[in-house]
Amino acid sequence: MPQSRHEERQQRLKEKIDARIESAQIERGILLIFTGNGKGKTTAAFGTVCRSIGHGKKAAVVQFIKGSWDNGERELLEPHGVPFYVMSTGFTWETQDKEADTLACLDTWHHARKLLTDPQVDLVVLDEITYMISYSYLPLEEVIDALTHRPENQSVIITGRGCHRDLLNLADTVTEMRPIKHAFDAGIKAQKGIDW
Ligand code: ATP
Ligand code: MG
Repeated sequence: MPQSRHEERQQRLKEKIDARIESAQIERGILLIFTGNGKGKTTAAFGTVCRSIGHGKKAAVVQFIKGSWDNGERELLEPHGVPFYVMSTGFTWETQDKEADTLACLDTWHHARKLLTDPQVDLVVLDEITYMISYSYLPLEEVIDALTHRPENQSVIITGRGCHRDLLNLADTVTEMRPIKHAFDAGIKAQKGIDW
């Protein structure tokens, strides 16, 4: 029986995809960035942490903005051996003290830098670090230096809106979350288990 056109097309597609899979042979850690104004950046990062530790890998999380509420992911992941380093000043846009914020940021960055030299750590999440650079709490060059000198096997996820162009250029995978709608705009309150 002659192959249907659908089967032929599928076969050609499969050959193309197989060839692309075959040609992707480089093995190294990658830099991923989840940016944009839509919801899903931090949750995508934590989804990847779950994937990573589910395979027995080691992941660590550094959060540059601390919510004033409890953090659902931390409750779950810390007991599973994922260390968290969380900046302790609360939301930066609620504070007025630039000097104190800068110190808190640099203190948190110190933990991040250490993780970025540790080949035992397979995945480092730098949650909301983009703001630290746009507020000039943290020098861009220092972040780029740490990222480029990190262990070869280590992957890093950066989240936050308005990511600096130089970081986007450095990254291997960049996803922009684009808001189509958000419940908050319809007056629906942020919810435990959905929004934090
Ligand atoms: P999430 O943590 O839910 O993945 P996110 O990391 O993409 O969100 P952030 O900018 O870090 O987004 O903001 C975190 C909080 O703000 C979450 O409670 C989220 O639901 C809410 N949020 C995210 N995007 C929007 C938006 N476009 N409008 C209103 N609220 C938003
Ligand atoms: Mg976020």
